[in-house]
Amino acid sequence: MTRISVGWEEWVSLKKLGLPALKVKTDTGARTSSLHAFAIQPFGSIEKPKVRFGIHPIPDNPDIEIFCSAPVVDRREVTSSNGFSELRYVIKTPITIKNKTWEIEVTLANRENMAYRMLLGRQALEGITVKPGESFVQPELSYDLYEFKKLTKRALRIAILTREPNNYSTKRLVLAGEERDHSVELIDTKRCYLNIQSHRPEVHYDGKPLPYYDSVIPRIGASLTFYGMAIVRQFEAMGTYCVNTANSIGMSRDKLAAHQILAQFRIPMPTTAFANSPKDTKNLLDLVGGAPTVLKLLQSTQGKGVVLAETKKAGEAVISAFQNLGANFIAQEFVKEAAGSDLRCLVIGKKVIASMMRVSGDDDFRSNLHAGGYAKKVRINKEERKLALSAANALGLKVAGVDIIRSSTGPKVLEVNSSPGLEGIEKTTEKDVAIEIIKHIEQNAVLSRNQIQNKLI
Ligand code: ADP
Repeated sequence: MTRISVGWEEWVSLKKLGLPALKVKTDTGARTSSLHAFAIQPFGSIEKPKVRFGIHPIPDNPDIEIFCSAPVVDRREVTSSNGFSELRYVIKTPITIKNKTWEIEVTLANRENMAYRMLLGRQALEGITVKPGESFVQPELSYDLYEFKKLTKRALRIAILTREPNNYSTKRLVLAGEERDHSVELIDTKRCYLNIQSHRPEVHYDGKPLPYYDSVIPRIGASLTFYGMAIVRQFEAMGTYCVNTANSIGMSRDKLAAHQILAQFRIPMPTTAFANSPKDTKNLLDLVGGAPTVLKLLQSTQGKGVVLAETKKAGEAVISAFQNLGANFIAQEFVKEAAGSDLRCLVIGKKVIASMMRVSGDDDFRSNLHAGGYAKKVRINKEERKLALSAANALGLKVAGVDIIRSSTGPKVLEVNSSPGLEGIEKTTEKDVAIEIIKHIEQNAVLSRNQIQNKLI
């Protein structure tokens, strides 16, 4: 390859970091190159440490900030010109000058007031002729490359709100986020507390306000819906892209509200009725077509509060028992022809990413995997696909598990879940659902607040 030469100042691009144009100064007095970064934040596992950091690539325009991430190859004690020594992260990344690209090592330094965002040291300049008396020997680039539409890569700061750091779904989301170079932090929903102020909403954790996250993935268990919604609402107020909003989570959790909203959107469901007074029990059962009837406690999850009443008498007895306990429930027409099976469709954004059929283990009419059912691959038809998308959309959910039952009069929605588990669906379909959730975030998380204010979008 022909030997290239550089002047004392030069334009380079660090494409892998999402930096298409940087003005750098050559510094043959230093061995390793350095990049002036801020908000330097380590993440990733001990075996694969990574670091996320911000750069203001245009020295006189601090409003443009780009967040990058890269694997950490070392931490080194560096003594700066003022005699102070500090421990700096060392990353490895390819650099491009003209049409030549090679890997270099770069230390991350937090020094904002430097005229050049990067100093190129000897290690990066091996095999390159430095002409200290000349500047911009190679073609010049332009900061116009930082126009929003041209930017393709950004390292996001993502938080998962969960009480289960070790479950399959959480672990998969962390791995998927890190695989795509984002930092992913786990936040225990129950340990967040709130500072509710209109001018500066904050979420506190461990005695400190949490930083700004580009996106939050709420994985809120049914028992923590109320508190979880308050936390998600606060993140929304901070301008964070929440994969599902507090309102949508609340609506989908309240089975009755969800049924009412789905009905408003004319989404087919098994005929469903709700009553409060014992006096109306008979009418209620008639309304859903008489026995057999499915009776569901409103707080039911995993099929635990779902009963099939085979006869009218049994129906009346179950309703009377529920009412004595003060429990709210719905009565629903029994879709016998589904024969203990239903479809779980995983919706992300405007697509059904994966779907499976769940079949009950024995002669149970419930197909929940937790209740002993098993899952198999299935091809859903166009009507089912459309139904799944409309149901998620009606509740405003961007990520949803929509349960559909195949009835003789077409597909009907049973339930829409706002924190669908990933294990069953990923293992059954062999699809990488976690990566799709991260890609959805990449497309929807807004740029940092600075950039919005400056209307770069
Ligand atoms: P949960 O939220 O507790 O899982 P679901 O409403 O999803 O409750 O019901 C659990 C299971 O019971 C469903 O997956 C389905 O297999 C079966 N099921 C529910 N409703 C009906 C119905 N109306 N007709 C036939 N089977 C039903």
